[in-house]
Amino acid sequence: MKEEQSRKRRRGKHKKPQKTQPSLLPKHSTRLHKKTHQQKNPAHQSSSSSLKSSSFLDKMKARLAGGHFRMINEKLYTCTGKEALDYFKEDPELFDMYHAGYQEQMSHWPELPVNIIIKWLKERSSSLIVADFGCGDARVAKNVKNKVFSIDLVSNDPSVISCDMSNTPLRPSSVDVAVFCLSLMGTNYASYLKEACRVLKPSGWLLIAEVKSRFDPNNGGADPNMFSKAVCEMGFTSALKDFSNKMFVLLYFKKKENKSSNGREIEWPELKPCIYKRR
Ligand code: SAH
Repeated sequence: MKEEQSRKRRRGKHKKPQKTQPSLLPKHSTRLHKKTHQQKNPAHQSSSSSLKSSSFLDKMKARLAGGHFRMINEKLYTCTGKEALDYFKEDPELFDMYHAGYQEQMSHWPELPVNIIIKWLKERSSSLIVADFGCGDARVAKNVKNKVFSIDLVSNDPSVISCDMSNTPLRPSSVDVAVFCLSLMGTNYASYLKEACRVLKPSGWLLIAEVKSRFDPNNGGADPNMFSKAVCEMGFTSALKDFSNKMFVLLYFKKKENKSSNGREIEWPELKPCIYKRR
């Protein structure tokens, strides 16, 4: 808790990152120049020192980009989908910053859950209609023959529907497979799953891939059984629980033919934010 608070203090509240990144650079680059003779004698700038300073700048830029990514990421995990939509509407560039950082993080994962989901789809009929909730760069749509409704907060591509996924324009009982790949981010994540339940046909599939630590009760994560029970109470049966991967869990469900609601309110476990560490 203390560590959490001091981290917040260091980072400040979720301020929008400054777009004028270069203004943060001179402080460090001046320090670098003081140590060299370049300032006094720029004509003698050696190619090795210019190489050094450009790699220093690259490092600084990467550090800043990493900081921006972690800040936006934390914001997305600690607000509602509606707030996240407003956040990106105000400045869509933040979405690109987020995704650049996301791709960087993913490049360190030995296996990507989205590829496992693509494989799963390829092994089945391409006539299945898919909704990819929180599609990111729409990798699912780009890699399968199926009709895919790609949904995300911001659309950089005409094929992506931009909306908060708790309220999509999809018709009820219109899709065979609903995918949530690392996208149960908002504090109101249950409303995304309810939306998936609404648009799924009876016997339709709900495929969830999530960061493993979020389902690790020994480390403040949710109890996967409690999560699974909540999904089942919404009208699903559990089809797969796969904890074999080091980085993510796979939880697949099948929608029941007939929904038999007992009218009780569903108790959803809190899903803790996935905070990426500085590399
Ligand atoms: N599924 C992709 C991207 C995962 S990143 C992949 O596996 O590569 C999570 C994505 O979920 C982000 O693009 C984020 O914008 C999106 N997202 C988070 N909350 C959302 C919401 N309420 N509505 C729509 N998209 C959301």
